[in-house]
Amino acid sequence: MIDLRSDTVTRPVAAMRDAMANAAVGDDVYGDDPTVRRLEARTAGILGKEAAVYMPTGSMTNQVAIRTHTEPGDLVVMDAGSHVVRSEGGAPAALSGVTAQRILGERGIFTADQVRDAIGTSHHGSPSTLNPPATLLSVENTHNGGGGRVWPLDTLDEVVVAARAAGLRCHLDGARLWNATAATGVPEARYARDFDSVSVCFSKALGAPVGSALAGSAAFVQRARRFKQLFGGGFRQAGIIAAGALYALEHHRGDLGRDHARAGALADVLVTIPGVKLVREHVETNILRFAVPCPAGDFVDACMGRGVAMLVSGRHDIRAVMHRDVSEGDVERAAGVIREELRRLTAKMSTVDYMM
Ligand SMILES: *Cc1c(COP(=O)(O)O)cnc(C)c1O
Repeated sequence: MIDLRSDTVTRPVAAMRDAMANAAVGDDVYGDDPTVRRLEARTAGILGKEAAVYMPTGSMTNQVAIRTHTEPGDLVVMDAGSHVVRSEGGAPAALSGVTAQRILGERGIFTADQVRDAIGTSHHGSPSTLNPPATLLSVENTHNGGGGRVWPLDTLDEVVVAARAAGLRCHLDGARLWNATAATGVPEARYARDFDSVSVCFSKALGAPVGSALAGSAAFVQRARRFKQLFGGGFRQAGIIAAGALYALEHHRGDLGRDHARAGALADVLVTIPGVKLVREHVETNILRFAVPCPAGDFVDACMGRGVAMLVSGRHDIRAVMHRDVSEGDVERAAGVIREELRRLTAKMSTVDYMM
C-alpha cells in the first residue's frame, strides 16, 4: 500500500522507537516530565518564543490558542478554507463560543485589505456595541486546503500589521511550518516573529507518532496550560511520546526537501495525464491537490483497489500528500496507477460527463 492520504500516516523508525522506549518520564500534569519539558524548551527555542506547551493534537493547540486569546462572542478572522474552521469539528463555536469571520483567500492566502474588511469599519455615528468584537486573526502556513501553499513573507507581514492596527491578537497555525521553512529557507522563528502564538505539529511532516506544541510568551503559555487541562489534554507520562517528537525535531527537519521533490515529481507526471486538472506551480511543498473528470470517490476507490490511497476532498477533487514513508519508486508506481485508472474510468464516461 502506498498511502498518500496524509503525512500523518508515517510509522516511527527504529531509532525513534528506541528514544521513546528509553525516555525519562514523570507526570506532566504535575509539570515534572523531563522529556516533555525538553521538547517544550527546544520547540520554543526554534520558534523564537519564550515558552511552549506540548499537547496531544494540533487541533487542541489551535483551539486552546483561540480559547486563550478570546472571550465568548468574539470574532476570529481567518481564511474560509482553514483547518481551524473546516477540519476541527466546529470547535471554535463549541469550545470558545466564537464566530469565525471567514475571508475568501486565494488558496489560503489573503490580503491586508481583506483583513480590514473582515474586521469592519467603526464610526462614531454607529453604536460599537452592535458588532461582535474581532479580537483574533488566525493564519495557516503552509496552507493545507490551499495545497501546501507557503505565505509570501511580505504578505504575511502586511496582514499581521493590519490586524495589530485594529487591536487583534495573531495566531499562526503552523502545523506544517517546517515545510514552509524547508521550501523557502526562511527560518521558522522569522515566520513566527510577529505572532502572539504558534501551533506546530510533530506528527505531520516530521514523522513523530503523536503531538503538537503551542508556543508564545511565558504568560500566554501559562494561561494556555489551564485550557489544555480544561479541554482534557492533561496527559501523564507523556514523555514517552514527547521523546518521539523530540527525535523527529532533531533528526527529520532537514529531510523535508525530499518530500517536496517527490511531490514535484508526481505533479510533473500528473500534468501530462489527460483529464487531470493541476497547476504545476501550485505544488510548492508536500501536498498535491488536483481534480479529475470523473466522480472523485470512484477514482479514489479504483486507485485504492490497486494499492494507492488518496483522499477525496470535493466532488472532483483529490488530495495526495508526500511523507517520509513514500519512496521514489512509490511515486512512480502511484503515477502509473493514477494514469491507468483515469484512462479506464474516463473511457466509460460519455463525452457529456467528461465535459463536466
Ligand atoms: C493537521 C492539521 C492540524 C492539526 O491536526 P491534528 O490532526 O489535530 O493534529 C492543524 N492545522 C493544519 C493546517 C493541519 O493540517
